[in-house]
Amino acid sequence: MAHAYDYDLFVIGAGSGGVRASRVAAQLGARVAVAEERYLGGTCVNVGCIPKKLLVYAAEFSEAFADAAGFGWTVGASRFDWNALIANKDAEIARLNGVYERLLSNAGVTIMNGRATLADAHTVKIGSRRVTAKYILIAVGGWPAAPRVAGAELAIDSNQAFHWRAMPQRVVIVGGGYIGVEFAGIFRGLGAQVTLVHRGGLFLRGFDDDLRAALAEEMRKRGIVLRFATEVERIHRSGAGVRATLSEGASIDADLLLLATGRAANTCGLGLETAGVTLDGAGAVVVDRYSRTAAENIFAVGDVTNRRNLTPVAIAEGRAAAETMFGRRAVALDYDHVPSAVFSHPPLATVGPTEAEARARFGAVEIYKSSFRPLKHTLSGRDERTFMKLVVEPNSDRVLGCHMMGADAGEIIQGLAVAIQCGATKERFDATIGIHPTAAEEFVTMREKAAS
Ligand code: NDP
Repeated sequence: MAHAYDYDLFVIGAGSGGVRASRVAAQLGARVAVAEERYLGGTCVNVGCIPKKLLVYAAEFSEAFADAAGFGWTVGASRFDWNALIANKDAEIARLNGVYERLLSNAGVTIMNGRATLADAHTVKIGSRRVTAKYILIAVGGWPAAPRVAGAELAIDSNQAFHWRAMPQRVVIVGGGYIGVEFAGIFRGLGAQVTLVHRGGLFLRGFDDDLRAALAEEMRKRGIVLRFATEVERIHRSGAGVRATLSEGASIDADLLLLATGRAANTCGLGLETAGVTLDGAGAVVVDRYSRTAAENIFAVGDVTNRRNLTPVAIAEGRAAAETMFGRRAVALDYDHVPSAVFSHPPLATVGPTEAEARARFGAVEIYKSSFRPLKHTLSGRDERTFMKLVVEPNSDRVLGCHMMGADAGEIIQGLAVAIQCGATKERFDATIGIHPTAAEEFVTMREKAAS
C-alpha cells in the first residue's frame, strides 16, 4: 500500500526525549526518522548530567584524600590533571554517542544528520531535502541563556565549561540554580578559589528553605565564597583573565567567569509559526497534558516545552507522546512526585512539596527534621552535617515531601520517591525498620515534631 507520507513520525532532536519517543514509536510499528544537527544524546549526554556527574566524582577525591588520615592512611602528594580528566570524559561521551546511534538504528529508526526546520505542519526541510510525516515531534531542548551584562562575551556558559582548555585557579560563577551550585562544588573540589554570585538572598529558589540554608553553610565551610543579593554589573578584561564589577561596588578577578543564569528553549528559526505551533512569552513550545502543540499532529517534549527540565521527565514525556500517537490510548504524565537532586558538595535531593509550598496548599502541616554529623566524619574530623526533613499532612497522615542534604542524597531520595508515589503515611514510615548504621535510617526514626 502506498503511504501518504514518507514517515509516520519525524522527530527533530536526538536528545533524551527525542530518542525515547523514536524508539517507542518504532516498537509500536511506526516508520520513524530523527534529525540531529549536533550530537546524539543531546544535552544530558554531551554537556549536562553525564559529564557533570563525572566531574563531580573527580572533585570528590580531594575530600577523600583529606579525610583518609583519620582512618590511619597516609596519602602521598596528589596532583590533578585537568586535561586527563577532560580527555577521559570525552572518550566516555564518544562511546555513549555510539550507544545512542546503535539504539536508534537497531530499533529501525532512520538518523539524519543536519538541522531540520518545518516548512508546514507535515513537511520538514533538512538542507535541500524535503521529507513529509504524519506526526512531527519537536524535541530540540534548550541552550544557555546569557543575562544582559556588559562584557558577557568574556564569560563562558556551562557548554564551554565542559571543554575549557586549562584548570582555572580563580573561578567566578554567576547564578544560583542547579548549574551554578554544581559547578561551584566541582571547581572548588578540583582546587580552585570559587566565588558564587547570586542576585537573590539565598540560592536554589524553589527548594526547601532549610535545605538551601544548610547547603549554603556547608559550601562556606568548604571555602566557597557566596555573595548573595549581588549582581554583576560589568565584565571586563584584566590581564589574562577577567574582572567582574559587582552591584555593591566591589570587583573580583577571575581566570574563568561562568554564567549559569538559566537556559532557554531552542525554538528560534525552526519554522514553528508556519506550522501553527504557538510559543509562550519565554519562547517555549506550548503543549497540552499529552504534549500536543497547537498544531494537532505536532507534539513537543523535554526542555523545549519548559515544564520540568529534567532528563527523566523528558524521557517519560517522549514515551507518553509516542504512546499517544501510536498506542492504544492517550497517556498524560503525573508531575506531582518528580524527584530531583543537585549534585553539590554535599549533594541534596528532594521529592514532593517544600514546607512553604505544603503550608500554602494544605494549611497546617507537621514537620520532622534531623541534623547530625555523619558517622564517617567522627573519624575523618570533617565538620560536615547531614540534614533531613519530612513534611506530613496531618489529616491523612500522608508524607508529602522528603528533603535531604548529605552524602548519597540522590540515591536515598530516589528510593523514598517510590513510597511517596504510593501515598505512604508517616505511620508506614515509622513501621519501617531501618538499616543500621546508615544515614537513610533517620528517615524512618524521626519521631519528634519540629515546633511550627
Ligand atoms: P536555573 O533556572 O535553575 O537557575 C538560574 C539561576 O540564575 C537562578 O539562580 C536565577 O536567579 C539566576 N538568574 C536568572 N537570570 C538572571 C539574570 N539575568 N541575572 C542574574 N541572575 C539570573 O538554571 P540553570 O542554568 O542552573 O539550569 C538550567 C536547568 O537545567 C534547570 O532548571 C534544571 O532543570 C536543569 N538542570 C538540572 C540538573 C539536575 O537535575 N541536577 C543539573 C543542571 C541543570 P533567580 O532564582 O532569582 O531567578
